[in-house]
Amino acid sequence: MAPIDVKKICCIGAGYVGGPTCAVIALKCPHITVTIVDLNQSRIDAWNSDDFSLPIYEPGLVDVVKQARGRNLFFSTDVDKAILEADLIFVSVNTPTKKSGVGAGFAADLNYVELATRRIAAVATSNKIVVEKSTVPCRTAESMRTILESNSHGGARFDILSNPEFLAEGTAIKDLLSPDRVLIGSLQTGEGLDACQALANVYANWVPKERILTVGLWSSELSKLAANAMLAQRISSINALSAICEATGANIDEVSHAVGFDSRIGPKFLRASVGFGGSCFQKDILNLVYLSESLHLPEVAAYWRQVVDMNEYQKSRFSKTVVDTLFKTITGKHIAVLGFAFKADTGDTRESAAITLIRDFLSERAYVTIYDPKVEESQIWQDLSEACPNTPLETIKKYVTIVHNVIEACKDKEAVVIATEWKEFLEIDWQTVYDHMTKPAFVFDGRLLIDADKLRKIGFKVKVIGRGDST
Ligand code: NAD
Repeated sequence: MAPIDVKKICCIGAGYVGGPTCAVIALKCPHITVTIVDLNQSRIDAWNSDDFSLPIYEPGLVDVVKQARGRNLFFSTDVDKAILEADLIFVSVNTPTKKSGVGAGFAADLNYVELATRRIAAVATSNKIVVEKSTVPCRTAESMRTILESNSHGGARFDILSNPEFLAEGTAIKDLLSPDRVLIGSLQTGEGLDACQALANVYANWVPKERILTVGLWSSELSKLAANAMLAQRISSINALSAICEATGANIDEVSHAVGFDSRIGPKFLRASVGFGGSCFQKDILNLVYLSESLHLPEVAAYWRQVVDMNEYQKSRFSKTVVDTLFKTITGKHIAVLGFAFKADTGDTRESAAITLIRDFLSERAYVTIYDPKVEESQIWQDLSEACPNTPLETIKKYVTIVHNVIEACKDKEAVVIATEWKEFLEIDWQTVYDHMTKPAFVFDGRLLIDADKLRKIGFKVKVIGRGDST
């Protein structure tokens, strides 16, 4: 059979993954027409906006879109047309966690994947390579194949690939331009391998061949869950050690440094914090837990579950430190929270630790003032409404204020909590902050950002995650 030459790509889902991933493919493959589609009209309008106010913030993304949009990169809500014309279709829709329902209650919600797959089946009249870009449980490709083959018309044949995305928000463009690896899973049959080669050829336009790994379908699907679970596990491990540091006077920075020097362990992802967030880590581990339970492997499920439990513990431990340090009550006290995004360099707030902390503070009837350089106000209100479902938004607004700079946030407050590691927080003029605060003035650093000694010299009372009171 002649090698499949991909000329038109459709990406279903114009979110944090589909948008940047396919924009980079368009940039690097000017000979391929890439159309990114979404049902969400306002998202597509933002991708098409004249002033490039894109729906997501990622360093470098605007430049990529500026170069490719209108040339060979298009954004549209016309899902059917894009499916019809494409040789290769990425399915990059959201796969949230199903929090209720039948069974264990934490399964991946595959509704969006199924609807997109059914749409492909309904519309396609020629052969398509269908690529799982969304993170999905192991063997989802089998369900997609059944849906596609049972509904196919016009003699279309479907080859299904798994091509999970490993980008991290905040460094998405860098990760896409220079990935550690691109993983492609396929059936190990002639047609499966041809489809795999066709996708590998697309990436080979800029990714070195030795970084394009081709494996079986199920291994590829599981590798994505495994990679996220192991990254999150490292964070939970270092956070578990941070609690021991606080109790003993050891310093988590020094411990991480010493441990990371071991070449078998390595230094990355060993930074203690108030807890991991983001749309993926918790969801993917819960997926792994669910998968293990459904395979009757309860000990394996319990092992991975502990990574999530540790993360929840870290967040509540930090909230408790704030309350205990502020003389065991924060009722009626004023707390500034610096950072609302789940990490720096993104406007994404999904599962952000800041939300949990603020919910805890509100439950004690503290007043909270929030400053984040990137997160939209409307997003903050939406997140807090969802986090406090029994409290009307008007009541939340009596206790929460959103401001536009650090000094405004800290003015007349008893405490400052650093929840996100934004670079601009490294440059805070702490003397000025101190002068504006109620005394005694407390700083709680959940991101290991501050120079604790310097702040203590100014007069602050300081608590840093993973450090005893004198370290
Ligand atoms: P997202 O919510 O930002 O984007 C998904 C988009 O798909 C939404 O805009 C939604 O409107 C659209 N959509 C849903 N069903 C559709 C349909 N039938 N037709 C057209 N559009 C449809 O989600 P995301 O963060 O981009 O994540 C997508 C997938 O990638 C998830 O499975 C996620 O786990 C995985 N992933 C995410 C990241 C990350 O950092 N966000 C990293 C790697 C993998």
